[in-house]
Amino acid sequence: MKYLGSHVGLSAPDYLLGSVFQAEQWGETAFMCYTGAPQNSRRVPLEKLKISEADAASSLSRVIHAPYIVNLADPKGEDKLKIGKKTVENELIRAQAMSGVCLVLHPGASLGAEFEESALALCRCLEEVALGKDYPPIAIETMAGKGSEIGKTLEEVAFILNNCRVPLKVCLDTCHLHDGGYDLSDPGFLDEVDRVIGLDKVACVHLNDSKNPRGAHKDRHENLGYGAIGFDNLLRIARDPRLDELPIILETPYWNGEAPYAMEIKMLREGAFVDWR
Ligand code: FE
Ligand code: FE
Ligand code: ZN
Repeated sequence: MKYLGSHVGLSAPDYLLGSVFQAEQWGETAFMCYTGAPQNSRRVPLEKLKISEADAASSLSRVIHAPYIVNLADPKGEDKLKIGKKTVENELIRAQAMSGVCLVLHPGASLGAEFEESALALCRCLEEVALGKDYPPIAIETMAGKGSEIGKTLEEVAFILNNCRVPLKVCLDTCHLHDGGYDLSDPGFLDEVDRVIGLDKVACVHLNDSKNPRGAHKDRHENLGYGAIGFDNLLRIARDPRLDELPIILETPYWNGEAPYAMEIKMLREGAFVDWR
Protein backbone atom coordinates (compact mmCIF):
# COMPACT_ATOMS: atom_id res chain seq x y z
CA MET A 1 0.00 0.00 0.00
CA LYS A 2 2.73 2.44 -0.91
CA TYR A 3 0.44 4.38 -3.24
CA LEU A 4 -2.98 4.68 -1.67
CA GLY A 5 -5.57 7.29 -2.56
CA SER A 6 -8.92 8.07 -4.09
CA HIS A 7 -10.71 9.65 -6.95
CA VAL A 8 -10.43 13.45 -6.60
CA GLY A 9 -12.03 16.28 -8.58
CA LEU A 10 -10.28 18.49 -11.11
CA SER A 11 -12.00 21.84 -11.29
CA ALA A 12 -11.59 25.59 -11.67
CA PRO A 13 -9.74 27.61 -10.63
CA ASP A 14 -6.84 25.40 -9.48
CA TYR A 15 -7.39 22.21 -11.49
CA LEU A 16 -4.51 19.74 -10.98
CA LEU A 17 -2.98 21.84 -8.21
CA GLY A 18 -6.33 21.71 -6.42
CA SER A 19 -6.52 17.92 -6.96
CA VAL A 20 -3.10 17.47 -5.40
CA PHE A 21 -4.01 19.58 -2.36
CA GLN A 22 -7.25 17.68 -1.94
CA ALA A 23 -5.46 14.31 -2.08
CA GLU A 24 -2.84 15.45 0.43
CA GLN A 25 -5.51 16.74 2.77
CA TRP A 26 -7.03 13.24 2.83
CA GLY A 27 -3.62 11.70 3.61
CA GLU A 28 -3.19 10.09 0.18
CA THR A 29 -0.02 8.96 -1.58
CA ALA A 30 -1.75 8.53 -4.96
CA PHE A 31 -4.93 9.84 -6.59
CA MET A 32 -7.02 9.51 -9.70
CA CYS A 33 -8.78 12.23 -11.67
CA TYR A 34 -10.55 12.76 -14.95
CA THR A 35 -9.02 15.49 -17.11
CA GLY A 36 -12.45 17.21 -17.24
CA ALA A 37 -16.07 16.08 -16.83
CA PRO A 38 -16.29 12.26 -16.82
CA GLN A 39 -19.45 12.22 -18.94
CA ASN A 40 -18.23 14.36 -21.86
CA SER A 41 -15.09 15.13 -23.83
CA ARG A 42 -15.12 18.94 -23.60
CA ARG A 43 -11.79 19.86 -22.05
CA VAL A 44 -10.11 22.95 -20.63
CA PRO A 45 -6.78 23.50 -22.44
CA LEU A 46 -3.74 21.90 -20.77
CA GLU A 47 -2.12 25.30 -20.18
CA LYS A 48 -4.86 26.17 -17.70
CA LEU A 49 -4.56 23.04 -15.55
CA LYS A 50 -1.69 24.33 -13.32
CA ILE A 51 0.34 21.21 -14.04
CA SER A 52 3.78 22.71 -13.32
CA GLU A 53 2.48 24.16 -10.05
CA ALA A 54 1.11 20.71 -9.13
CA ASP A 55 4.44 19.08 -10.07
CA ALA A 56 6.31 21.53 -7.85
CA ALA A 57 3.89 21.03 -4.95
CA SER A 58 3.79 17.24 -4.79
CA SER A 59 5.04 13.96 -6.15
CA LEU A 60 1.87 11.90 -5.51
CA SER A 61 1.33 9.10 -7.98
CA ARG A 62 -1.36 10.11 -10.52
CA VAL A 63 -3.83 7.92 -12.36
CA ILE A 64 -5.92 9.45 -15.16
CA HIS A 65 -9.36 8.09 -16.09
CA ALA A 66 -10.77 8.49 -19.62
CA PRO A 67 -14.37 9.77 -19.87
CA TYR A 68 -16.83 6.90 -19.61
CA ILE A 69 -18.93 7.96 -22.63
CA VAL A 70 -16.27 6.57 -24.97
CA ASN A 71 -17.30 3.30 -26.61
CA LEU A 72 -14.72 1.76 -28.92
CA ALA A 73 -16.30 -1.72 -28.71
CA ASP A 74 -19.30 -1.23 -31.00
CA PRO A 75 -18.16 -2.59 -34.37
CA LYS A 76 -21.05 -0.80 -36.11
CA GLY A 77 -20.55 2.56 -34.42
CA GLU A 78 -18.62 4.24 -37.24
CA ASP A 79 -19.11 7.91 -36.31
CA LYS A 80 -18.88 7.16 -32.60
CA LEU A 81 -15.68 5.19 -33.10
CA LYS A 82 -14.17 8.15 -34.92
CA ILE A 83 -15.11 10.55 -32.11
CA GLY A 84 -14.07 7.99 -29.50
CA LYS A 85 -10.61 7.54 -31.03
CA LYS A 86 -10.10 11.30 -31.13
CA THR A 87 -11.18 11.51 -27.49
CA VAL A 88 -8.86 8.73 -26.32
CA GLU A 89 -5.95 10.25 -28.24
CA ASN A 90 -6.61 13.59 -26.60
CA GLU A 91 -6.83 11.94 -23.17
CA LEU A 92 -3.52 10.15 -23.74
CA ILE A 93 -1.87 13.47 -24.61
CA ARG A 94 -3.36 14.99 -21.46
CA ALA A 95 -2.41 12.00 -19.29
CA GLN A 96 1.15 12.29 -20.55
CA ALA A 97 1.29 16.04 -19.84
CA MET A 98 -0.08 15.37 -16.36
CA SER A 99 2.48 12.58 -15.71
CA GLY A 100 -0.23 9.97 -15.31
CA VAL A 101 1.06 6.46 -14.59
CA CYS A 102 -1.71 5.13 -16.86
CA LEU A 103 -4.96 6.06 -18.58
CA VAL A 104 -7.81 3.91 -17.27
CA LEU A 105 -10.29 3.06 -20.01
CA HIS A 106 -13.60 1.22 -19.88
CA PRO A 107 -13.46 -1.33 -22.69
CA GLY A 108 -16.96 -0.40 -23.84
CA ALA A 109 -20.23 -2.10 -24.78
CA SER A 110 -20.82 -4.48 -27.65
CA LEU A 111 -24.44 -3.34 -28.17
CA GLY A 112 -25.44 -6.71 -29.54
CA ALA A 113 -22.29 -7.71 -31.43
CA GLU A 114 -20.48 -10.96 -30.59
CA PHE A 115 -17.82 -10.52 -27.90
CA GLU A 116 -14.86 -11.27 -30.15
CA GLU A 117 -15.96 -8.93 -32.91
CA SER A 118 -16.55 -6.22 -30.34
CA ALA A 119 -13.21 -6.76 -28.60
CA LEU A 120 -11.35 -6.75 -31.91
CA ALA A 121 -13.01 -3.43 -32.87
CA LEU A 122 -11.65 -2.01 -29.60
CA CYS A 123 -8.18 -3.45 -30.26
CA ARG A 124 -8.03 -1.94 -33.78
CA CYS A 125 -9.12 1.47 -32.45
CA LEU A 126 -6.45 1.42 -29.73
CA GLU A 127 -3.80 0.45 -32.29
CA GLU A 128 -4.81 3.38 -34.52
CA VAL A 129 -4.49 5.74 -31.60
CA ALA A 130 -1.51 4.47 -29.62
CA LEU A 131 0.63 2.04 -31.60
CA GLY A 132 4.27 3.13 -31.57
CA LYS A 133 3.57 6.18 -29.40
CA ASP A 134 5.13 6.74 -26.00
CA TYR A 135 1.95 7.72 -24.18
CA PRO A 136 1.33 6.37 -20.69
CA PRO A 137 -0.11 2.85 -20.92
CA ILE A 138 -3.85 2.35 -21.41
CA ALA A 139 -5.25 0.27 -18.53
CA ILE A 140 -8.37 -1.69 -19.50
CA GLU A 141 -10.73 -1.72 -16.52
CA THR A 142 -12.45 -4.95 -15.46
CA MET A 143 -16.21 -4.34 -15.73
CA ALA A 144 -19.32 -5.51 -13.86
CA GLY A 145 -21.07 -6.72 -17.03
CA LYS A 146 -23.93 -4.23 -16.85
CA GLY A 147 -25.88 -4.24 -20.14
CA SER A 148 -23.57 -5.38 -22.92
CA GLU A 149 -20.31 -4.22 -21.30
CA ILE A 150 -17.30 -6.25 -22.39
CA GLY A 151 -14.36 -6.98 -20.07
CA LYS A 152 -16.65 -8.61 -17.50
CA THR A 153 -14.39 -11.64 -17.02
CA LEU A 154 -10.63 -11.96 -16.65
CA GLU A 155 -10.66 -14.05 -19.83
CA GLU A 156 -12.36 -11.26 -21.80
CA VAL A 157 -9.80 -8.75 -20.56
CA ALA A 158 -6.97 -11.17 -21.42
CA PHE A 159 -8.44 -11.59 -24.92
CA ILE A 160 -8.30 -7.81 -25.42
CA LEU A 161 -4.66 -7.64 -24.25
CA ASN A 162 -3.65 -10.64 -26.36
CA ASN A 163 -5.21 -9.27 -29.53
CA CYS A 164 -3.92 -5.72 -29.43
CA ARG A 165 -0.46 -4.82 -30.66
CA VAL A 166 -0.37 -1.89 -28.23
CA PRO A 167 1.09 -3.10 -24.90
CA LEU A 168 -2.04 -2.64 -22.80
CA LYS A 169 -2.33 -2.81 -19.02
CA VAL A 170 -5.24 -3.62 -16.71
CA CYS A 171 -7.10 -1.84 -13.92
CA LEU A 172 -8.67 -4.26 -11.40
CA ASP A 173 -11.90 -2.84 -9.95
CA THR A 174 -12.94 -4.96 -6.95
CA CYS A 175 -16.61 -3.90 -7.07
CA HIS A 176 -16.80 -4.72 -10.77
CA LEU A 177 -15.04 -8.09 -10.31
CA HIS A 178 -17.41 -9.05 -7.49
CA ASP A 179 -20.45 -7.91 -9.46
CA GLY A 180 -19.05 -9.84 -12.42
CA GLY A 181 -19.16 -13.01 -10.30
CA TYR A 182 -15.68 -13.35 -8.75
CA ASP A 183 -15.37 -14.42 -5.11
CA LEU A 184 -12.99 -11.94 -3.52
CA SER A 185 -13.06 -13.83 -0.23
CA ASP A 186 -11.10 -16.59 -2.01
CA PRO A 187 -7.44 -16.12 -1.01
CA GLY A 188 -6.50 -17.57 -4.42
CA PHE A 189 -8.25 -14.80 -6.33
CA LEU A 190 -5.07 -12.88 -7.23
CA ASP A 191 -3.44 -16.15 -8.27
CA GLU A 192 -6.24 -16.51 -10.78
CA VAL A 193 -5.65 -12.97 -12.03
CA ASP A 194 -1.98 -13.89 -12.37
CA ARG A 195 -2.78 -17.08 -14.27
CA VAL A 196 -5.29 -15.52 -16.69
CA ILE A 197 -3.89 -12.00 -17.20
CA GLY A 198 -0.54 -11.82 -15.39
CA LEU A 199 -0.10 -9.57 -12.36
CA ASP A 200 2.71 -7.84 -14.26
CA LYS A 201 -0.02 -6.46 -16.56
CA VAL A 202 -1.93 -4.81 -13.74
CA ALA A 203 -1.30 -1.03 -13.59
CA CYS A 204 -3.74 -0.01 -10.89
CA VAL A 205 -6.46 -1.21 -8.54
CA HIS A 206 -9.85 0.38 -7.84
CA LEU A 207 -10.66 -0.68 -4.28
CA ASN A 208 -14.42 -0.49 -3.71
CA ASP A 209 -16.99 -2.48 -1.79
CA SER A 210 -20.24 -3.38 -3.60
CA LYS A 211 -23.89 -2.68 -2.76
CA ASN A 212 -24.99 -5.87 -4.51
CA PRO A 213 -24.53 -9.62 -4.17
CA ARG A 214 -21.81 -11.40 -6.12
CA GLY A 215 -22.65 -11.81 -9.80
CA ALA A 216 -25.36 -9.10 -9.77
CA HIS A 217 -23.81 -7.23 -12.76
CA LYS A 218 -24.96 -3.92 -11.24
CA ASP A 219 -21.90 -1.72 -10.58
CA ARG A 220 -22.96 0.21 -7.46
CA HIS A 221 -19.95 1.03 -5.29
CA GLU A 222 -20.17 0.93 -1.49
CA ASN A 223 -17.95 2.19 1.33
CA LEU A 224 -15.32 -0.28 2.51
CA GLY A 225 -16.80 -2.78 4.94
CA TYR A 226 -20.44 -1.75 4.34
CA GLY A 227 -21.00 -3.92 1.28
CA ALA A 228 -21.10 -7.49 0.05
CA ILE A 229 -17.31 -7.87 -0.31
CA GLY A 230 -16.40 -6.86 3.23
CA PHE A 231 -13.49 -5.02 4.79
CA ASP A 232 -11.22 -8.00 5.50
CA ASN A 233 -11.36 -9.24 1.91
CA LEU A 234 -10.60 -5.76 0.55
CA LEU A 235 -7.79 -5.32 3.09
CA ARG A 236 -6.21 -8.63 2.06
CA ILE A 237 -6.12 -7.51 -1.57
CA ALA A 238 -4.79 -4.04 -0.71
CA ARG A 239 -2.05 -5.59 1.44
CA ASP A 240 -0.95 -8.21 -1.07
CA PRO A 241 2.81 -7.66 -1.56
CA ARG A 242 2.42 -8.34 -5.29
CA LEU A 243 0.38 -5.12 -5.59
CA ASP A 244 2.74 -3.07 -3.45
CA GLU A 245 4.08 -0.86 -6.25
CA LEU A 246 0.64 -0.14 -7.75
CA PRO A 247 -1.68 2.78 -7.06
CA ILE A 248 -4.71 1.62 -5.06
CA ILE A 249 -7.58 4.02 -5.65
CA LEU A 250 -10.87 4.29 -3.73
CA GLU A 251 -14.01 5.20 -5.69
CA THR A 252 -16.41 4.71 -2.79
CA PRO A 253 -19.48 6.96 -2.39
CA TYR A 254 -19.77 10.12 -0.33
CA TRP A 255 -21.76 9.80 2.90
CA ASN A 256 -24.01 12.68 3.99
CA GLY A 257 -22.22 14.92 1.52
CA GLU A 258 -18.79 14.12 2.99
CA ALA A 259 -15.90 12.35 1.29
CA PRO A 260 -15.09 9.08 3.12
CA TYR A 261 -11.51 8.83 1.92
CA ALA A 262 -9.50 10.14 4.90
CA MET A 263 -11.37 7.65 7.09
CA GLU A 264 -11.13 4.72 4.69
CA ILE A 265 -7.42 5.27 4.07
CA LYS A 266 -6.77 5.36 7.80
CA MET A 267 -8.69 2.09 8.20
CA LEU A 268 -6.63 0.43 5.48
CA ARG A 269 -3.32 1.67 6.89
CA GLU A 270 -4.23 0.55 10.40
CA GLY A 271 -5.73 -2.70 9.14
CA ALA A 272 -8.93 -2.41 11.14
CA PHE A 273 -12.53 -1.58 10.25
CA VAL A 274 -14.17 1.30 12.12
CA ASP A 275 -17.95 1.76 12.00
CA TRP A 276 -17.93 5.46 11.10
CA ARG A 277 -21.30 5.87 9.33
FE1 FE B 1 -13.87 3.27 -14.18
FE1 FE C 1 -13.49 1.70 -11.24
ZN1 ZN D 1 -17.94 1.18 -11.14
